[in-house]
Amino acid sequence: MSKIIIANWKMNGSIQKINTDLMYYNQHLTSNIQKCSVVLAIPQLYLSHAASLCKNDMYVLGSQDVSIFENYGAYTGEISAQMLKDVNVRYVIVGHSERRLFLNETQNTLIKKINNILDMGMIPVYCVGENLSTREKKEHMNFVSDQLDILKSINLKGECVIAYEPIWAIGTGIVPHEDEVSEMINFISAYTKEHLNVKMQLLYGGSVNINNAKNILAIDNIGGVLVGGSSLNPEEFINIINAVG
Ligand code: PEP
Repeated sequence: MSKIIIANWKMNGSIQKINTDLMYYNQHLTSNIQKCSVVLAIPQLYLSHAASLCKNDMYVLGSQDVSIFENYGAYTGEISAQMLKDVNVRYVIVGHSERRLFLNETQNTLIKKINNILDMGMIPVYCVGENLSTREKKEHMNFVSDQLDILKSINLKGECVIAYEPIWAIGTGIVPHEDEVSEMINFISAYTKEHLNVKMQLLYGGSVNINNAKNILAIDNIGGVLVGGSSLNPEEFINIINAVG
């Protein structure tokens, strides 16, 4: 299975940055791109513009969120899965810790979102991960297991990706030891086989950069990485793609 490398720009970027970064990617990507799926999760406002530039198969578009509401309707400010599909989005991030924390997203909200994504034939990237105090109390496995439990109530008819993103590693420059990543990835893998009976691609996210990407991507059963801060620097992002072995 080819590795998935997702750039999560969060609330950053502009039309001009999209133009210049895509130009940079086109000039600097090596044949390594064929070994992976590169997903650009830029702000929703710019997806349509990026879609007009991504005419080749080198990158696919990702959304950082989707509405809980289906299709169309009187839901001011919302963007539905159907609309994302319309501008060629393939992957949708759901349950990012920043949204769980700042926008109070609940497990029920996330179930609706994942169902909407799957109904449109897109791929949810479901984020899970514990905070520092949970890890220090050694409750991280139970915590992640509880977050995974919502998947039991969903008909996982399509492809689905899970991203393990320990909150204490996001934007902090702190990366868990490779054994800690490996332990959690193996735990999630065993969980999905036992409870969901589907094989999913499992990603790691949290302070991935050019110095640690190669080692992280070499961990057994890692299906790719979700990259925040480092994806805003096009040179660094290309080097992460080139770290795929
Ligand atoms: C993220 O927020 O998904 C993320 C991985 O961020 P960063 O790479 O900046 O830690």
